[in-house]
Parts: sequence; structure tokens; C-alpha cells
Amino acid sequence: MPELDPELEPDLVLRSTRVITPDGQRAASVAVSAAEGRILAVLPYDTGTHLRGVRTEDFGDDVLLPGLVDTHVHVNDPGRTDWEGFATATRAAAAGGVTTLVDMPLNSVPPTTSVEALEIKRNVARPAAHIDIGFWGGAIPGNTADLRPLHDAGVLGFKCFLLHSGVDEFPHLDPAGLKAALREIAGFGGLLIVHAEDPQLIDGAPPPSGPRYADFLASRPRAAENRAVEGLIDLARELGARVHILHLSSAESLPRIAAARREGVAITVETCPHFLTLTAEEVPDGATEFKCCPPIREAANQDALWRGLADGTIDCVVSDHSPCTADLKTDDFGQAWGGISSLQLGLPAVWTEARRRGHTVEDVVRWMSTAPAALVGLRRKGAIEAGRDADFAVLAPEETFTVDPAALHHRNQVTAYAGKTLHGVVRSTWLRGHKIADHGAPAGPTGRPLTGRLLERQPRA
Ligand SMILES: [Zn+2]
Repeated sequence: MPELDPELEPDLVLRSTRVITPDGQRAASVAVSAAEGRILAVLPYDTGTHLRGVRTEDFGDDVLLPGLVDTHVHVNDPGRTDWEGFATATRAAAAGGVTTLVDMPLNSVPPTTSVEALEIKRNVARPAAHIDIGFWGGAIPGNTADLRPLHDAGVLGFKCFLLHSGVDEFPHLDPAGLKAALREIAGFGGLLIVHAEDPQLIDGAPPPSGPRYADFLASRPRAAENRAVEGLIDLARELGARVHILHLSSAESLPRIAAARREGVAITVETCPHFLTLTAEEVPDGATEFKCCPPIREAANQDALWRGLADGTIDCVVSDHSPCTADLKTDDFGQAWGGISSLQLGLPAVWTEARRRGHTVEDVVRWMSTAPAALVGLRRKGAIEAGRDADFAVLAPEETFTVDPAALHHRNQVTAYAGKTLHGVVRSTWLRGHKIADHGAPAGPTGRPLTGRLLERQPRA
């Protein structure tokens, strides 16, 4: 391991016998400049005399990992701030070990479909940011001319829908609109992220109504996802464009995605904690806190998603935290808002199941920090190594807790995980060398300026 360059002046050292580095887990002392907010060096655990006098935090056998990067969060602010908001979302994220989130362009009013709307959102987010925040732009009918200005203004990519988004102010693209938007985005090297369900197959399925989960599941068939993914692969190939599949639920798409990547198509894919940890079989009738689109599917499908993670076909695991007020979660699956809240719980939820299936914390870090940071090109995030931002989570991986909705910092404490016992307690969270959460509560003196910053797209390496 390298010695510390004598020119560098750390003001903080974080030690653990289990630091997750890009080269694996090891005992190490991480030298940090909190003044500069970055990691200076990853040093031997028993680092010598030159660090004497520097404030040191020793986490013992708790795991020191890079702060999570959650690229799929619906903050809904401004406009639907009663559903969530930047202050509550980023506080919940910090409590859960997340140090960067990327906000989705819809559910807020206005949606992020023009530079003007982006600036409105940034002005709301800036004073409320407990963690770092990036933004997705939106591609909707009629805003193709807004895409490049949004790209230049720093959004990390563009989201679109192929069918009704759930809110009328963010309409979906038809096939011609999708192609036009993707051609434009490919022209400046941008990234399109897509809610991939085929509208015709959804329209042809029996519409959901009533409290039975089986009826809801039948209304969102795997075939609709499979067909949409196929179409996106073809389009990405034809246009030489980068396309990312959001919240993959149907594992039947995985062989096609893997084959497309082998032939060089620039397609990536994420899945979500709820698809990896909850199953259709366990959803009680009327329990619409489990409703999301695409839906939570059967246990056998979940096993196949885990195989997709293990073999590298699935790149990332991100929350798709999409809350609403409790009154919108009626017991009718046709009427209830679709969305699952898990921003604060993603790490322990995924780790609990990953651990049971023989995966390591390193795997979880790759899926939930390194790969999402790489997806959006945030090169200072996603790893513990010299030069990166000093963003960390400290995890007690073998400690368990039972999910108490009242302990969540989400604005609305409706959660599909209520009462579950999970492995992995987040002891503390650090952003650019400052402790921002301590045992699930905000850390540091009240009244000091918040540490979170707004992030812009970095030029591609
Ligand atoms: Zn979403």
C-alpha cells in the first residue's frame, strides 16, 4: 500500500479492519482532507507516525464502504412536496448510507423538461440538501429542442416513458417521438433512461381493479417489459445510442440484454431492492404499499434476477423511491398510487438477501455505489480511493433491526418493509469528510449549513 505523500495534509483518518476498496476488502486507514472533502490516500491500518495528532475515528470491525449512489429517486419537489421533498428525502438517504441521489424529472411541478424548470428545482433543492444531488432531465413530446440545453446545463441524462407515466404533466413518447429524442441525445453523447413497458401489451392485458394482488400482477405482464426491452435494444443498436433500462422486473429480458451487450450495444440495466427482496406470493390482498410498475413478480423470477446480478448482466441496484401521501395508497390496486418507498432501507434490504444468497458486502457496494456512479459519470463518487470525495457509510453487517416505519425520515412513512427484520445497521454516514448521520439521526450541530451540494454532469472521460 502507498505511503502518504508528505505534501498532503489530512485532517481526519477513518480506520476499519474492513474497508471496501476497489481492490477488495482490507484493514486500512483512510486519510481524508475534510477541508477539501476528498480522500487523500488509503494507507495501511497501522499507519505510522506522520499521522499522529490527526483526528482519528476507529470503526473496529464495522465495514467502511463508499457512500451509496442512488440514481433513481422521486423527490417530487416542488409541486408534490407533501409526497416527499428534498429535506426529508436527503435526510432519509443520509440515515440509510446514501450520499448521492439523482432526482427523477417527474412528479415535481414543473417536471424537469426545460432549463427553466431545472433552475426552479435547483433553487428548491440547494438549501435542503443533506446529501449531494444530481438531476435527470425529461424527454416528453415537443421538448426535443430542450434536450441539448438541459445537457449543457448539467443534467446527467434523460428519462422517458413509453406509456402513461402516472402524472399528466409528464406525457410519454410514441415510437416516432422516442426515436427523435434518442437520435438527438445520441448526437451529443447523452444517456436515455427508459421506463420499459410496451403500451399495447399493457392495454391488451386485463385492467387492474380491486384488492387482489394477482389481478394487478396480471395487468402488468412480463411480456410487456420483454417487448419494450427488445425494441430499445434494436433502437440503441440502430442509432449507436446509450440506453439504460430502468427498474427491470422481468428476468426474461436478461438473456437478450446480455447478448446485446456482447455484440457491443450500449445498453445498461438496473433493478430495485423490492424486486430482489419481496415476492408476489407474499403480498397480502389490499396491501398497495407493494404496488409499483412494473410489479413485484414471483419468487422464481426473483431468483433469476439474482443470477443476472451475479453474472454481471444487471449493472445497478437503485431504490426507485417513489412515495406518495398515505391516502393515495387505498386498498384498490387499480386506484392506488404505484410506488415503493425505500430510500432509507435499500442497503439493509439488499444486503439481507445478498448475504443469504452468499454474496459479499463488496458485491453490494459494486451494485449500489460504484456502478450507479459510473452510469451517470460521477467520477468522484462510488469508491474509496485517493482523489474521490470522502463519502462513506459505516455498516454493522451482522447486526439486525426490525423496520419501524416511525423511524424512517421519509415524509410519508408508508413502507412495504414494515415489520421485516433486516441485517445491516448503518452506524454513520459521511459526506465529503463530514459526519451527516449518526445511528439513523442527523449528525452535527444544528444550524450549521448543510453539507450537500448540487452536482452537474462531468465531461465524459
Ligand atoms: Zn421511478
